[in-house]
Amino acid sequence: ITGTPERTDSEALATLHRVFGYEAFRGAQAEVIEHVVAGGDAVVLMPTGGGKSLCYQIPALVRPGTGIVVSPLIALMQDQVDALRALGVNAGFMNSTQDFDERRVVEAEFLAGELDLLYLAPERLRLESTQELLSRGKIAVFAIDEAHCVSQWGHDFRPDYLTLAVLGERWPDVPRVALTATATRATHDEITQRLNMPSARHFVASFDRPNIQYRIVPKADPKKQLLSFLREEHAGEAGIVYCLSRNSVEKTAEFLSRNGVEAVPYHAGLDAGTRAAHQSRFLREDGLVVCATIAFGMGIDKPDVRFVAHLDLPKSIEGYYQETGRGGRDGLPSTAWMAYGLNDVIQQRKLIQSGEGDEAFRRRAGAHLDSMLALCETAQCRRGQLLAYFGQEPDAAGCGNCDTCLTPPETWDGTVAAQKVLSTVVRLQRERGQKFGAVQIVDILMGKRTAKVIQFDHDQLSVFGIGEDLTEGEWRGVVRQLLAQGLLAVEGEYGTLVLTEASGAVLRRERDVPLRKEPKRPATSSKASGG
Ligand code: ADP
Ligand code: ZN
Repeated sequence: ITGTPERTDSEALATLHRVFGYEAFRGAQAEVIEHVVAGGDAVVLMPTGGGKSLCYQIPALVRPGTGIVVSPLIALMQDQVDALRALGVNAGFMNSTQDFDERRVVEAEFLAGELDLLYLAPERLRLESTQELLSRGKIAVFAIDEAHCVSQWGHDFRPDYLTLAVLGERWPDVPRVALTATATRATHDEITQRLNMPSARHFVASFDRPNIQYRIVPKADPKKQLLSFLREEHAGEAGIVYCLSRNSVEKTAEFLSRNGVEAVPYHAGLDAGTRAAHQSRFLREDGLVVCATIAFGMGIDKPDVRFVAHLDLPKSIEGYYQETGRGGRDGLPSTAWMAYGLNDVIQQRKLIQSGEGDEAFRRRAGAHLDSMLALCETAQCRRGQLLAYFGQEPDAAGCGNCDTCLTPPETWDGTVAAQKVLSTVVRLQRERGQKFGAVQIVDILMGKRTAKVIQFDHDQLSVFGIGEDLTEGEWRGVVRQLLAQGLLAVEGEYGTLVLTEASGAVLRRERDVPLRKEPKRPATSSKASGG
C-alpha cells in the first residue's frame, strides 16, 4: 500500500473539486477511490447513474501514468473523451473508427506520458501489438467498464472480455477496477473468476432508487394508455418508451407525434446518421420522447429523464432495472411505468422456446422470465421485490412509492377458476387430442359460439360455458397468472396451452391458487383484447 489514506483522501477530493466541480463523493465512491488509488483491485457494483466513472477517472488522475479504460461502447468513446477534454482532462481513445494517423497521435501521446485516460475497445486490447504498446508506457489503473460482458449467460456477452484476465498477469502492480450495473451475486462471482481478480475488494452500492416510482398496469390498449399517462403526468417532459420490435417502435413514435407528444424512433434498423441525430436531440432538447428498442440507452447520460415506459415485457429483472434506471438520475421524482398483459407472457415464452440456444440456455432464460413475471403479478411492494432480487434486504413496511404500496391490490381465491381452465385444457387434449391457445380456451369457458368453436364442435364439451361467472378480461387475467405461476405452459409457434407438472396438484385440489384481482379496465378502452 502506497500513500496514507489521508493523503489519497485529500488528493482525490481536491481532484473532485478542481476537475469535476463537484462538492462531495457519493455513496461508495470515496471508499472505492481510496482503495484503488492505494493500489488495490476492486469490483464495483453500482446501479446505472450511481457514478461509476469517477471511481476510475479520479484514480487515473491521482496515480502516476495513464488510466486504461476498456469499454465495449465504441460509439460513445468520442463523446466521453470530448466531455473529459472539456474539463481539461487529457483523454484519448483507440478504436476501429480511427484512421492510422489519428491512432498514431494517440499512441505518441500515451508513450510521452501525456494522457490521463485512454479508452480502448476490448478487441483492441486483446491484440499483442496493443499490449506491447502499453508495456512501453506507464499505466495508472485498468478500468473494465460494463464488466458483466464477461458473463456468458448475459445478453451482453463479449468473448473479447474473457481475454482481459491476462492484464493481471502482465501488469501485476497495476490496480484493476471492474465496474457494472447489471449484476446478481452470480454475475458478480463470474466477474471475479473470469477476470481473475480473486483478491479484489467488492463494493456493492444499494440498488434502491427511491425517487423512481414503479407502476405496472394491466394492458388494454397500450398506446392510448401511454398517451393518457404522458398527458396526465408528464406533459412536455423527456422520457423513453421501450418496445420489443422495430415496428412497434415506429408505430408508437408516430402515434405519439400525431397526438401532440413530440417523439422520435430509435432502433438498430435505422441508419447510423438518423440514430445519432435522434440520440443527440434527446440529450439536447428539453421534452423529447424517444421510442426505442433496448438498443437505446447503454451509456446514455441524461439526468432529467422523467419517465421510462415499457409497452412490452422485458426479458429479465436485470433488463427492467437497467432500463427503468435511466430515469431520474438527477434524483428528482421519475416514473417507471409498464403496461403488461397475457400476450406478453405468451410472446416471451414462445420467444424462449423457438429461440436459439441449448436446453440450459433456455432454462436460464425461463428462470429470468419467471422472476420478471413474479414482479408483475406480485401483490406486495414492487421495490421490495426488486431489491430482494438483487440480494438486498427490503423495507418490511413497504416503500410507499410503488403502485402496490399506494393502492394495495386485492386478491381472491382463484382455485376453482384455475381448475376450470386446467380441466378445459385436459379435456381438449384427452378427449380430442387437441391443443389450443388462450383465446379458444376462454371462448369455451365463457360458452361463446364463435366460428372456431362451432368448427371444432367445442360447444359439445362438458366444460363449455362453465365460466360464465367471470368476464373475458378476468379469464385472461386468470390464464396470465397461471402462466406466470408456472401452473400452465405455452407450447409451439402457435402458443398453445399445455399443463405443467405443477398443474396436477391444482386439479387434484391439493393446493389453493390465490390470484390478484384484475383492476377495472381503464375507461379509454372498451376492448378486452390486446393484453
Ligand atoms: P454510471 O456510469 O454509474 O451510470 P456516471 O458515472 O455516468 O454513472 O454518473 C452519473 C451522473 O452522476 C453523471 O452525470 C455524473 O457527472 C454525476 N455524478 C457522479 N458522481 C457525482 C458526485 N460525486 N457528485 C455529483 N455528481 C456526480
Ligand atoms: Zn412499494
